[in-house]
Amino acid sequence: MAKTHSQILQIAIPKPLYSHFDYLPPVGIDTKQLCPGMRLRVPFRTHTYVGILLAVVDSSSLPDSKLKVAHKLLDSTPVLPKESLNLLRWASHYYHHPLGEVISTALPLALGKGQSATLQAFSGWILTKEGLTYYLDKLLKKTARQQTILSLLQQYPQGLTQTTIANNLSNATPTLRSLEKKGWIKSQVIVNIPKPKNTASISPPLQLNTAQNEVVNQVCNKLQQFYPCLLDGITGSGKTEVYLQIIQKVLDKGLQALVLIPEINLTPQMVNRFQQRFTESIAVLHSKLNDNERLQTWLLARDGHAPIVIGTRSAVWIPLARPGIFIVDEEHDQSYKQQDHFRYSARDIAVVRAQHAQVPILLGSATPSLDSLYNAQQQRYQHFILPERAGIAVHPTFHIVNMRQQPYQSSHLSKQLKKAIGQRLEKHQQILLFINRRGYATTLICYQCGWIAYCQNCDARLTYHETHKNLQCHHCGNISPPESHCPKCQHSKLYLQGQGTERIEEHLQKQFPNARILRIDSDSTRRKHAMHKMLKRIHEGDADILVGTQMLAKGHHFPNVTLVGIINIDGGLYGIDFRAPERMAQLLVQVAGRAGRGEEQGEVIIQTFHPDHPLLIRLIRQGYASFAQAALEERQKAKFPPYTRLALLRAESTEVQPAMDFLHAAKIQTQQFNCQEVELWGPVTAPMEKRAGWYRAQLLLQTTQRKHLHRLLSQWLPQIPSSTKKIRWSLDVDPQDLL
Ligand code: ADP
Ligand code: ZN
Ligand code: ZN
Repeated sequence: MAKTHSQILQIAIPKPLYSHFDYLPPVGIDTKQLCPGMRLRVPFRTHTYVGILLAVVDSSSLPDSKLKVAHKLLDSTPVLPKESLNLLRWASHYYHHPLGEVISTALPLALGKGQSATLQAFSGWILTKEGLTYYLDKLLKKTARQQTILSLLQQYPQGLTQTTIANNLSNATPTLRSLEKKGWIKSQVIVNIPKPKNTASISPPLQLNTAQNEVVNQVCNKLQQFYPCLLDGITGSGKTEVYLQIIQKVLDKGLQALVLIPEINLTPQMVNRFQQRFTESIAVLHSKLNDNERLQTWLLARDGHAPIVIGTRSAVWIPLARPGIFIVDEEHDQSYKQQDHFRYSARDIAVVRAQHAQVPILLGSATPSLDSLYNAQQQRYQHFILPERAGIAVHPTFHIVNMRQQPYQSSHLSKQLKKAIGQRLEKHQQILLFINRRGYATTLICYQCGWIAYCQNCDARLTYHETHKNLQCHHCGNISPPESHCPKCQHSKLYLQGQGTERIEEHLQKQFPNARILRIDSDSTRRKHAMHKMLKRIHEGDADILVGTQMLAKGHHFPNVTLVGIINIDGGLYGIDFRAPERMAQLLVQVAGRAGRGEEQGEVIIQTFHPDHPLLIRLIRQGYASFAQAALEERQKAKFPPYTRLALLRAESTEVQPAMDFLHAAKIQTQQFNCQEVELWGPVTAPMEKRAGWYRAQLLLQTTQRKHLHRLLSQWLPQIPSSTKKIRWSLDVDPQDLL
């Protein structure tokens, strides 16, 4: 047969491969029907995959005989709008990650599996203009049934499904028909089932203070342009109120808002605030949605039926028909960076999205990242500062306790901290103790021979958990029973060293037998609703001392907490990662921010073995902004981001040596590209060399200008051999940690 296909389909496949693949159209499909963004099922090696059409072109580098025919076209309209494809292409390019995998990160699982992309729709009813303005009291008593329906629909101007109406009124159809005849209602396909909402519970907008007003005005004046803003204000300074009022303006224009938050399940109050303000339905992408619910939410947003979308990291990819504003709350939070596979930063992607869409973006935080502060200093972002609100509690006072001067004791609670706890208990105030470790003890050790219980898969000590009476590896999840004898010298007595939340809890219970203690960590809150119940107890005053991990630091308001104790801050002061001090400061400010938000002044006690650390002193005496300035100066001196750009090439292998050898070979390859502007450091073994059975090494790339890094990576990566079962590699552009 003569060559009738002059048209070639370029398709992205969800595989870690840098190129796209060429196919011929499925049998019986005219290429005129095809648009980029549609899905096709295609054969690839021994499997079939759901791929995304990128383009239809005239020629292929493959000979005709090698071209395979796509099996099936799955969509009649593109699942991914043009804007999304552009964003995904940009991300693939920026992070040097295969486009097929980038797309599969962004696509709901159901679509990746080939499920149909249609929105569930229901028959329903909506008020006409006449119906909307009809005064109910004009209806006579005998039309009580009509009155019921009209008043119901007046509460839900976006319409109600037939089913919902029938639930409120039996045998509703004749009444609906007669209302339709009068021209007061009309039938409508309803895609969004509005949740019953009591309009009486809607809380009106607050009168903004001057600083808030300034932000809202500036942003609302620029709704049609890219306007990146850093909203810098301590917790309680009114950032959320600013978001809400800007969103209202965006909705008034018929546009959509996308709000990213770090955690939904732990901080339900954020979503509640939104639900209390808007009558519009709010699409929340949380981890409890099943695949189909997630798909439906995604489609609602894509087709413009969801005016407000709230979600965590992956929600940054959700397409919007009419984007009006992007908001990233707690922009400094590490959870915005995906730490495996496709290592993107949702915060950075959101900024690029806003730029593509030419709309404003707000990055909000009480402790902005040094990256964003730097961008503000460089005038890339508008910097808005919300000063502390008048009338609310004054700053807490800080005390540093030098742990070197403490007599040795196993509890790691200094006498100053114990005394302060006692005083607060007497006054019936709450105390929050922060410790960055869950479990009971960080080390199981034999004092006879020095043996320590290590994970067999990782270079990490096992943590002893008293509640489960077992040893756990916090890096690979390995669980084992605790030894009763030293496996090395058979000594029968082993000791538990180091502190976790469980041990602090036990110790406090001995010290303060009458106190009600609540431990809050990922173990104690694992069960459904557990966190909710604990928060309730705290708010009802049914707990005196809260012991917890950083889970407690995020976004909670505990008005009766007047004392915060930080058991040990030292990991942050001398961590191996250059971002460690920044993280320490953010955590400290966030934890300290829980104290004294009521009437009484709060007090923060920080235990440390390094009481003279200059950054710690600066933070405590002069505040976060001053700390950030000093930390930025250190970064500049050390040539670290944001003053330079980094990428990390990681390799891991099942044996000790291959990962290092692999990186050495890769490094030598770079010489041919003649790229002196990029410095290569290493390869070195990773700070935790062995993790989950893999030996890890890394090669750091550093440059002053991104374009050099970019050029090198584009030439180099395609030449690096693919991962195998024994050795695998990954690239992390803008790594958030060097571990
Ligand atoms: P943030 O998001 O910065 O923590 P919020 O917006 O949650 O701050 O505000 C903290 C508290 O102050 C909330 O209870 C909020 O209702 C209240 N609040 C915010 N702005 C105002 C205002 N302009 N007038 C009165 N109360 C306000
Ligand atoms: Zn021993
Ligand atoms: Zn392990």
